[in-house]
Amino acid sequence: MIVTLSKGADGAAVKKQLVARGLWVERLEGAEVVAFQVSPSSRPIDSDELRSVQGVADVLLSAPAHPEVSKQSSIVKVGPHELGPGAPFAVFSGPCSIDSEERIHRLARDLAQAGATFLRGGAFKPRTSPYSFQGYGVEALKWMKQAAKDAGLAMVTECMSEATVDDVAEYADMVQIGSRNMQNYALLKEVGATGRPVMLKRGMAATVKEWLLAGEYLLMHGAGGVVFCERGIRGFDSSTRNLLDLGSVADMAHAKKVAVIVDPSHASGRLDLVPHLARAAKALGAHGAMFETHDDPGSALSDGPQALSVEAAVSLTRELTESRA
Ligand code: PEP
Ligand code: MN
Repeated sequence: MIVTLSKGADGAAVKKQLVARGLWVERLEGAEVVAFQVSPSSRPIDSDELRSVQGVADVLLSAPAHPEVSKQSSIVKVGPHELGPGAPFAVFSGPCSIDSEERIHRLARDLAQAGATFLRGGAFKPRTSPYSFQGYGVEALKWMKQAAKDAGLAMVTECMSEATVDDVAEYADMVQIGSRNMQNYALLKEVGATGRPVMLKRGMAATVKEWLLAGEYLLMHGAGGVVFCERGIRGFDSSTRNLLDLGSVADMAHAKKVAVIVDPSHASGRLDLVPHLARAAKALGAHGAMFETHDDPGSALSDGPQALSVEAAVSLTRELTESRA
């Protein structure tokens, strides 16, 4: 956004007023008229409010970079469930990898009774090492679908490649795009074309703008809604697995006004911190939380150390959904 000044206006006085309104401004050197460039790190502001500032001649707005995301209704529908501003706080939970038919049925029942809405688990796993467990594939999709259906939960699972889009879309109520694939544009186009709603994780080194543009790809190609999921970005401190960026969650929820959830499991990698971070996410205005649960974390085939026990997950789910604020 660029703010131009009327002829003879006192630049310093106008700048003072802009700063007082929460804008980071820089004077544009060499312009024919006096003008200030407003940084995107500023708070959102109505252009009419700016035009009312004494000394301001005009406000030049650039076209929105992500029109589809901006015009998407902020409520995303997944079957009968709604997610976003004004909708009940949603809990997504389940094991990192679906590792047994019997276990996923039991867990789905327990989570549903506690108040969860989404059964989230992996059939195709993006693992950092090719030697780690890669997921049980289509077999796991079938176990998960039946478990979700029996418990009355919506099923969310990750699609990692164009080759499995049809399989994942056949079973999942909502498709997850993982952090590593946030900028896999060919995949975003294919997943968008299924028409399914999507849970889009933030890339571990992606800016908010890049994250929103990834959502734009999905919606442009037909996705039935996008819910953004903050899962931590790369930090420098190994005391947590990643760095949970709650500032960006507040920006997405309150300034960008899009449906956004928080994943404290992958953000921290620490089961002791998951409940605290989930509460922080809710207090901040996020629309849901996603955390990993396992009935025997020690034998989980992936991400066991960050998985909550069933008891802990049930108690956290109850607490987060209790007031349904
Ligand atoms: C996951 O959700 O299981 C996962 C692998 O997460 P991320 O893509 O955030 O690393
Ligand atoms: Mn995981």
